[in-house]
Amino acid sequence: MVSSGIDDAAGARIVPADAISDNEMGLDIGPQTVARYAEIIRSAKTILWNGPMGVFEKDAFAAGTISIAKAVAYSEAISIVGGGESAAAIAKAELEKMITHVSTGGGASLALLSGHVLPGVAALNDKLKTRTPVIAGNWKMHNTWSEARALARAIRKGVGDTARVEVVIAPPFTALPVAAEEINGSGVTLAAQNVHWEDKGAFTGEISTAMLKDAGCGMVILGHSERRQYFGETDELVNRKARAVLRAGLQPIICIGETLSERESGKHEETVSKQLAGGLDGLTDEDLLRIIFAYEPVWAIGTGRTASPETAQEMHGFIRGWLFDKFGKNAGAVRILYGGSVKPDNIDALMRQPDIDGALVGGACLEAESFLRIIRFQL
Ligand code: PEP
Repeated sequence: MVSSGIDDAAGARIVPADAISDNEMGLDIGPQTVARYAEIIRSAKTILWNGPMGVFEKDAFAAGTISIAKAVAYSEAISIVGGGESAAAIAKAELEKMITHVSTGGGASLALLSGHVLPGVAALNDKLKTRTPVIAGNWKMHNTWSEARALARAIRKGVGDTARVEVVIAPPFTALPVAAEEINGSGVTLAAQNVHWEDKGAFTGEISTAMLKDAGCGMVILGHSERRQYFGETDELVNRKARAVLRAGLQPIICIGETLSERESGKHEETVSKQLAGGLDGLTDEDLLRIIFAYEPVWAIGTGRTASPETAQEMHGFIRGWLFDKFGKNAGAVRILYGGSVKPDNIDALMRQPDIDGALVGGACLEAESFLRIIRFQL
């Protein structure tokens, strides 16, 4: 179908391909070309469609593209539509649900399918190869014995094969033994929410690393913002506790993150650097490999206000860079989790960021269904 220009619908006419005059341009395919394409599409087993057939944005020149979209959608082949314009044509024809996969990546998807390396995809693959994601649920001061038993049981049942993700649950101290019983033999790791820095002694109300090991713990959360805010936990205490945890052969999950006023006054990187420097004081690059970090902006914890994936990535990149400067290449293998209103509907976008290696989840870990959906994040 030709015309003198995309605004000249009235002058449109269908001509053989070799009969286009000098002052006309091809703006759509005609019915004979549609029929030829449709015949081939009908017998295809796999269809990759990249690029509309004409200026489909103008109704006068959309018929060819829409006919091909229908032929692809109604075929029995595996259909992959790539490219922003082709995806828009499929959307215009309301056929998205009938296509196996629609991607706005056009040239990129063809390059990937023909074996080229895409830097973004390579970075994600690299991350998965070197850093097993961790999804940890911080139960805080929730769940009696029977409630803990039921939740741990449901998580264990739903988790199945955990090889893809390291799943961690952190019940309150009293519920550790029953949770341990429920997850025994599964890949789920038990964590405590706090510990004392001394191995034993006259510290009324405190719990030691040996007691946590006895209860079945493999990890301990340290420096959670609620402990910093309500119990006066300082970087120095976090450091002493981290040393005790490492000494006992347990793994610390060290929480760091800025308050709202620190972010608003542009001090977020300074705050996090200080927490890292204080918390890691005197530790070696070998210690670093056993530490998991959780970046938890205080303004996002329990508020329903998540950091956008880009903001979180910016901070995770900053933290990894800080660790590189201080400890060298081991920083590339360190897992940095994001925490702060992580939910089933935001985990996927967060996990697609190259430096986000998992999540520390509060509210959404108290229901097995939502925690399990977070564990099953999609990249
Ligand atoms: C947390 O307590 O570590 C946390 C991130 O909580 P929430 O997911 O509820 O914001």
